[in-house]
Amino acid sequence: MTEKVNGITIRAVNYKDSDKILTVFTLEKGKVAVSARGVRKANAKMKQISEPFCFAESILAEKSGRFTVTEINSFDAFYPIRCDLKKFYAGTIALELTDAFLPDGLVSEGQFVLLVEFLKKLAYKSFNPINLLLKFFYDVALENGYLINLSACGRCGGQITERVFLSVKDGCCVCESCKRQGENGFSIDTYLFLKKIASGNLEEENQEFAKNGLRFFGYYFNKVAGVNLKSLTTLIDL
Ligand SMILES: [Zn+2]
Repeated sequence: MTEKVNGITIRAVNYKDSDKILTVFTLEKGKVAVSARGVRKANAKMKQISEPFCFAESILAEKSGRFTVTEINSFDAFYPIRCDLKKFYAGTIALELTDAFLPDGLVSEGQFVLLVEFLKKLAYKSFNPINLLLKFFYDVALENGYLINLSACGRCGGQITERVFLSVKDGCCVCESCKRQGENGFSIDTYLFLKKIASGNLEEENQEFAKNGLRFFGYYFNKVAGVNLKSLTTLIDL
Protein backbone atom coordinates (compact mmCIF):
# COMPACT_ATOMS: atom_id res chain seq x y z
CA MET A 1 0.00 0.00 0.00
CA THR A 2 1.29 3.48 -0.79
CA GLU A 3 0.16 6.94 0.22
CA LYS A 4 1.09 10.51 -0.50
CA VAL A 5 1.98 12.81 2.43
CA ASN A 6 3.28 16.34 2.97
CA GLY A 7 6.01 16.43 5.58
CA ILE A 8 8.98 18.16 7.16
CA THR A 9 12.03 16.12 8.06
CA ILE A 10 12.78 16.80 11.70
CA ARG A 11 15.46 14.19 12.43
CA ALA A 12 17.71 11.84 10.44
CA VAL A 13 20.01 9.09 11.67
CA ASN A 14 22.32 6.91 9.63
CA TYR A 15 21.30 3.33 9.16
CA LYS A 16 23.24 0.45 7.53
CA ASP A 17 25.71 1.42 4.79
CA SER A 18 23.80 4.01 2.83
CA ASP A 19 20.34 4.43 4.40
CA LYS A 20 18.83 6.82 6.89
CA ILE A 21 15.92 6.52 9.27
CA LEU A 22 13.99 9.77 9.24
CA THR A 23 11.49 11.28 11.62
CA VAL A 24 9.07 13.14 9.39
CA PHE A 25 6.33 15.39 10.74
CA THR A 26 3.51 15.00 8.24
CA LEU A 27 0.33 16.98 7.83
CA GLU A 28 -1.73 13.84 7.25
CA LYS A 29 -0.36 11.32 9.77
CA GLY A 30 1.51 13.37 12.37
CA LYS A 31 5.04 12.27 13.21
CA VAL A 32 6.19 9.05 11.49
CA ALA A 33 9.42 7.08 11.22
CA VAL A 34 10.39 6.57 7.60
CA SER A 35 13.22 4.61 6.12
CA ALA A 36 15.04 6.29 3.23
CA ARG A 37 17.10 3.75 1.31
CA GLY A 38 20.33 4.63 -0.41
CA VAL A 39 20.14 8.35 0.41
CA ARG A 40 23.76 8.55 1.56
CA LYS A 41 25.10 7.45 -1.83
CA ALA A 42 26.50 10.17 -4.06
CA ASN A 43 23.84 11.49 -6.44
CA ALA A 44 21.04 9.74 -4.56
CA LYS A 45 17.75 10.85 -6.09
CA MET A 46 15.97 11.37 -2.75
CA LYS A 47 18.92 12.91 -0.89
CA GLN A 48 17.01 16.11 -0.06
CA ILE A 49 14.42 14.46 2.14
CA SER A 50 17.17 13.01 4.32
CA GLU A 51 18.21 16.50 5.46
CA PRO A 52 16.47 18.15 8.43
CA PHE A 53 14.17 21.09 7.49
CA CYS A 54 13.27 19.61 4.08
CA PHE A 55 9.60 20.24 3.26
CA ALA A 56 8.41 17.78 0.65
CA GLU A 57 5.57 15.77 -0.72
CA SER A 58 6.49 12.13 -0.65
CA ILE A 59 5.11 8.73 -1.46
CA LEU A 60 5.34 6.28 1.41
CA ALA A 61 5.08 2.53 0.96
CA GLU A 62 3.76 0.71 4.00
CA LYS A 63 4.68 -2.84 4.90
CA SER A 64 3.58 -4.29 8.26
CA GLY A 65 3.38 -0.86 9.86
CA ARG A 66 6.75 0.37 8.57
CA PHE A 67 7.12 3.16 6.06
CA THR A 68 9.65 3.51 3.28
CA VAL A 69 9.84 6.57 1.09
CA THR A 70 9.74 5.72 -2.61
CA GLU A 71 9.42 9.08 -4.33
CA ILE A 72 9.73 12.74 -3.35
CA ASN A 73 8.79 16.13 -4.70
CA SER A 74 10.65 18.70 -2.62
CA PHE A 75 8.87 22.02 -2.06
CA ASP A 76 11.60 23.75 -0.11
CA ALA A 77 14.83 22.77 1.65
CA PHE A 78 15.02 26.20 3.36
CA TYR A 79 18.63 26.33 2.28
CA PRO A 80 19.54 29.75 3.86
CA ILE A 81 18.96 28.23 7.32
CA ARG A 82 22.09 26.14 6.82
CA CYS A 83 24.25 29.12 5.90
CA ASP A 84 23.93 31.09 9.13
CA LEU A 85 24.75 29.64 12.56
CA LYS A 86 22.05 31.56 14.44
CA LYS A 87 19.39 30.60 11.92
CA PHE A 88 20.61 27.01 11.98
CA TYR A 89 20.38 26.64 15.77
CA ALA A 90 17.05 28.50 15.98
CA GLY A 91 15.70 26.12 13.31
CA THR A 92 17.17 23.07 15.02
CA ILE A 93 15.53 24.04 18.32
CA ALA A 94 12.15 24.48 16.59
CA LEU A 95 12.51 20.93 15.22
CA GLU A 96 13.55 19.62 18.66
CA LEU A 97 10.52 21.24 20.27
CA THR A 98 8.16 19.84 17.63
CA ASP A 99 9.68 16.40 18.10
CA ALA A 100 9.40 16.60 21.89
CA PHE A 101 5.83 17.95 22.00
CA LEU A 102 4.18 15.65 19.49
CA PRO A 103 3.64 11.99 20.27
CA ASP A 104 4.01 9.67 17.25
CA GLY A 105 0.97 9.69 14.99
CA LEU A 106 -0.81 12.67 16.55
CA VAL A 107 -2.15 14.78 13.68
CA SER A 108 -1.79 18.52 14.34
CA GLU A 109 -2.52 20.82 11.43
CA GLY A 110 -1.97 23.87 13.68
CA GLN A 111 1.52 22.79 14.67
CA PHE A 112 2.34 21.91 11.06
CA VAL A 113 1.37 25.36 9.80
CA LEU A 114 3.29 27.06 12.64
CA LEU A 115 6.44 25.12 11.77
CA VAL A 116 6.25 25.77 8.01
CA GLU A 117 5.61 29.49 8.54
CA PHE A 118 8.45 29.73 11.07
CA LEU A 119 10.93 28.00 8.71
CA LYS A 120 9.90 30.25 5.80
CA LYS A 121 10.46 33.43 7.83
CA LEU A 122 13.70 32.10 9.30
CA ALA A 123 15.06 31.27 5.86
CA TYR A 124 13.88 34.23 3.81
CA LYS A 125 13.11 37.19 6.08
CA SER A 126 15.52 39.44 7.91
CA PHE A 127 14.01 39.15 11.42
CA ASN A 128 16.37 38.36 14.28
CA PRO A 129 16.35 34.51 14.46
CA ILE A 130 16.03 34.60 18.28
CA ASN A 131 13.00 36.90 18.13
CA LEU A 132 11.40 34.59 15.59
CA LEU A 133 12.11 31.57 17.78
CA LEU A 134 10.61 33.29 20.84
CA LYS A 135 7.42 34.00 18.90
CA PHE A 136 7.40 30.37 17.74
CA PHE A 137 7.79 29.22 21.38
CA TYR A 138 4.86 31.39 22.44
CA ASP A 139 2.64 30.15 19.59
CA VAL A 140 3.58 26.49 20.08
CA ALA A 141 2.80 26.71 23.81
CA LEU A 142 -0.62 28.12 22.93
CA GLU A 143 -1.24 25.49 20.23
CA ASN A 144 -0.35 22.62 22.56
CA GLY A 145 -2.35 23.67 25.62
CA TYR A 146 0.45 25.38 27.56
CA LEU A 147 -0.57 28.98 26.93
CA ILE A 148 1.52 31.42 28.90
CA ASN A 149 -0.40 34.61 29.57
CA LEU A 150 1.98 37.57 29.25
CA SER A 151 -0.58 40.33 28.76
CA ALA A 152 -1.17 41.27 32.42
CA CYS A 153 -1.08 39.81 35.92
CA GLY A 154 -2.84 36.43 35.62
CA ARG A 155 -4.50 36.82 39.04
CA CYS A 156 -5.61 40.44 39.50
CA GLY A 157 -5.56 41.46 35.82
CA GLY A 158 -3.47 44.55 36.58
CA GLN A 159 -0.50 45.69 34.49
CA ILE A 160 2.84 44.39 35.75
CA THR A 161 5.30 47.25 35.98
CA GLU A 162 7.89 46.51 38.65
CA ARG A 163 8.56 43.01 39.85
CA VAL A 164 7.29 40.00 37.90
CA PHE A 165 6.92 36.35 38.88
CA LEU A 166 6.15 33.22 36.89
CA SER A 167 3.42 30.80 37.89
CA VAL A 168 4.28 27.59 36.03
CA LYS A 169 1.17 25.87 37.37
CA ASP A 170 -1.25 28.53 36.14
CA GLY A 171 0.66 29.40 32.95
CA CYS A 172 0.85 33.11 33.67
CA CYS A 173 2.97 35.92 35.02
CA VAL A 174 1.85 37.61 38.21
CA CYS A 175 2.55 40.86 40.03
CA GLU A 176 4.27 41.13 43.39
CA SER A 177 1.04 41.37 45.42
CA CYS A 178 -0.38 38.21 43.77
CA LYS A 179 2.81 36.15 44.01
CA ARG A 180 2.51 32.84 45.85
CA GLN A 181 5.18 30.83 47.57
CA GLY A 182 7.58 29.04 45.20
CA GLU A 183 6.89 31.34 42.23
CA ASN A 184 10.19 32.67 40.98
CA GLY A 185 10.80 36.24 39.97
CA PHE A 186 12.50 37.25 36.72
CA SER A 187 13.58 40.47 35.08
CA ILE A 188 10.86 43.01 34.28
CA ASP A 189 12.83 44.01 31.15
CA THR A 190 12.72 40.44 29.88
CA TYR A 191 8.99 40.30 30.65
CA LEU A 192 8.26 43.52 28.74
CA PHE A 193 10.40 42.28 25.83
CA LEU A 194 8.53 38.94 25.68
CA LYS A 195 5.22 40.73 25.89
CA LYS A 196 6.09 42.68 22.72
CA ILE A 197 7.20 39.51 20.95
CA ALA A 198 3.98 37.71 21.95
CA SER A 199 1.93 40.52 20.46
CA GLY A 200 3.78 40.09 17.15
CA ASN A 201 6.30 42.92 17.39
CA LEU A 202 9.55 41.26 16.24
CA GLU A 203 11.49 44.41 15.40
CA GLU A 204 12.89 45.09 18.88
CA GLU A 205 16.60 44.26 19.07
CA ASN A 206 18.14 43.48 22.45
CA GLN A 207 20.44 40.46 22.68
CA GLU A 208 20.39 40.31 26.47
CA PHE A 209 16.60 40.34 26.84
CA ALA A 210 16.23 37.97 23.89
CA LYS A 211 18.63 35.46 25.43
CA ASN A 212 16.89 35.75 28.80
CA GLY A 213 13.67 35.06 26.90
CA LEU A 214 15.19 31.82 25.61
CA ARG A 215 16.12 30.82 29.17
CA PHE A 216 12.60 31.72 30.31
CA PHE A 217 10.91 29.44 27.75
CA GLY A 218 13.52 26.71 28.26
CA TYR A 219 12.67 26.68 31.96
CA TYR A 220 8.91 26.85 31.30
CA PHE A 221 8.85 23.97 28.77
CA ASN A 222 10.95 21.89 31.11
CA LYS A 223 8.60 22.49 34.04
CA VAL A 224 5.27 22.05 32.23
CA ALA A 225 6.15 19.32 29.76
CA GLY A 226 9.49 17.83 30.83
CA VAL A 227 11.00 19.00 27.54
CA ASN A 228 14.74 19.52 27.48
CA LEU A 229 15.87 21.49 24.43
CA LYS A 230 19.42 20.29 23.81
CA SER A 231 20.54 23.04 21.45
CA LEU A 232 19.23 25.94 23.53
CA THR A 233 22.48 26.62 25.40
CA THR A 234 24.43 26.56 22.13
CA LEU A 235 22.21 29.29 20.70
CA ILE A 236 22.46 31.33 23.92
CA ASP A 237 26.28 31.06 23.87
CA LEU A 238 26.68 32.04 20.20
ZN1 LIG B 1 -1.67 40.75 40.43
